[in-house]
Amino acid sequence: MHMNLNPLHAKETLSQEKKPTNQERHDLYQENQHLKNQLRDLIDSVGSYRGTQRQFENFELKLLECQNFKTLIDCLIETISIDFNLDKVSLTLFDPNKIAREMLGTILPHQQELTFVDVYQHLCLPFRELQAADVWPGGSPGSMRPQLGSSLAFFKLSGFQGTGVKSVAILPLIRENLLIGYLCLGSYTKKRFTPDLAIELLSHLSAVVAVCLENTLSREQLHQLSQIDMLTRVKNRRAFDKALRREIARSERDNLPLSCLFADLDYFKIINDTYGHPTGDRTLKAVASSIQELLRETDVLARVGGEEFTILLPNTEPEKARDIAERIRQKIEHIEIPDDKGKIVRLTTSIGYASWKPGLLANESVDDVHRRLMSTADRAVYKAKQSGRNRVRGEKYSQLRDS
Ligand code: GH3
Ligand code: MG
Ligand code: MG
Repeated sequence: MHMNLNPLHAKETLSQEKKPTNQERHDLYQENQHLKNQLRDLIDSVGSYRGTQRQFENFELKLLECQNFKTLIDCLIETISIDFNLDKVSLTLFDPNKIAREMLGTILPHQQELTFVDVYQHLCLPFRELQAADVWPGGSPGSMRPQLGSSLAFFKLSGFQGTGVKSVAILPLIRENLLIGYLCLGSYTKKRFTPDLAIELLSHLSAVVAVCLENTLSREQLHQLSQIDMLTRVKNRRAFDKALRREIARSERDNLPLSCLFADLDYFKIINDTYGHPTGDRTLKAVASSIQELLRETDVLARVGGEEFTILLPNTEPEKARDIAERIRQKIEHIEIPDDKGKIVRLTTSIGYASWKPGLLANESVDDVHRRLMSTADRAVYKAKQSGRNRVRGEKYSQLRDS
């Protein structure tokens, strides 16, 4: 086909055409305006999508920077509300072994917003009520996508019923094809979370949240395990050393005395040899829990050797330390453990105590106090053994006898 590339000629051709009527011109103008508006909206929405994307990226970075489980939970409930201007947030976590709850401590934060579910079925079942095609158990949990809506099922699942929330986004949190929980975002505006909203950013956020939850939990669990004696479940030597350093610094700061007990079970080798190692193990567990029952929340009990336990008593004068040691000695004396054949095993312990207070010796570092307090308690337990076992002995903390 011949193409006319001469613009002058084109003009000529145009001028030969029939002139448009006023109506046609008006229609053309209208259409032009309409297209311009559409283009402007499109540019605006691309701009605002970029802004939203940046908002999501920034928030995800904050999640990835969370150093522990507690700060991650705070971020998922508090920071998210502020960053995304949400009216309500709730987080439900599958926690069959109560590990997550343990990590958060005895006073659980965010009582209103945070829920733990022990049974997997209970975690998944509410999703059935959403009746969305891609929601488990219709598909596999791995294929679950964020759900947006404003029906009763959404309000029930999120726990936002009766709170004034008008629309909800439910983000299923999935790891290895299993639901580990769900995060619900609520708005008082009905149009905020509608099913036609693009969910790519929310899908990405759910994946990041799930990975962060799993990572911080397993990292902390690993850390905790590295601090625990697996037989008795009390602290191990490493954890005790750390606690001792912390308490020395705290006592120094608050000008408070600090005491330490060293308990060494008497003739434990004979218990093992006579009743067998498994009975010996059960005896060690019973000893640890008996001692723990006598201590305050702030005291620290550790198993530092085979049949040796140390007990750190913050804010405790030597006289009080001796009383506690004596109570422990008596309690252990009354422990009765049946051996494999039902025969009762009894045991005793020798306990040494030592105390320190800030300024006792000049120019001591935390390391000096740590070493001297332990060696003084060690010498005290030796004295207790020498004086016949099953007794409590103290030793004065001093520089001269430091080894
Ligand atoms: P003493 O009164 O002088 O302290 O005597 P002892 O027998 O308690 O001391 P010794 O150091 O000779 O023996 C400690 C024993 O503790 C040796 C070992 O069989 C036992 N033991 C160490 N760790 C464990 C353990 O994990 N389980 C069991 N069942 N026994 C252990
Ligand atoms: Mg020993
Ligand atoms: Mg011993």
